[in-house]
Amino acid sequence: MNLKGLFQRIRDGFRKPESLSDEVVQGFVRELEKARIEDVSCDEVFKQLDEYVEKEVRDGDAARIMPLLREHLDICSDCCDEYEALLDVLEQTAKEK
Ligand SMILES: [Zn+2]
Repeated sequence: MNLKGLFQRIRDGFRKPESLSDEVVQGFVRELEKARIEDVSCDEVFKQLDEYVEKEVRDGDAARIMPLLREHLDICSDCCDEYEALLDVLEQTAKEK
């Protein structure tokens, strides 16, 4: 269920508290946690992705330096695909040198 649907159910829940199950509340909390991570937008990730991949290939500690980006890659398959593609390219380039 998306965040909007959850808000709707929470609102209904105030009118009819018995309809506000634990499950709904927990789902709401989960969505909020996800939304926090998604504070880093895909655009932001794309902008910093080459830097991230470069750090990863060179030093292997990109996740420590840019943890928000790492978190985003874990939950966002679009950015993760992009990340893996870039990683491939960079590793190929590194081998050719
Ligand atoms: Zn993304």
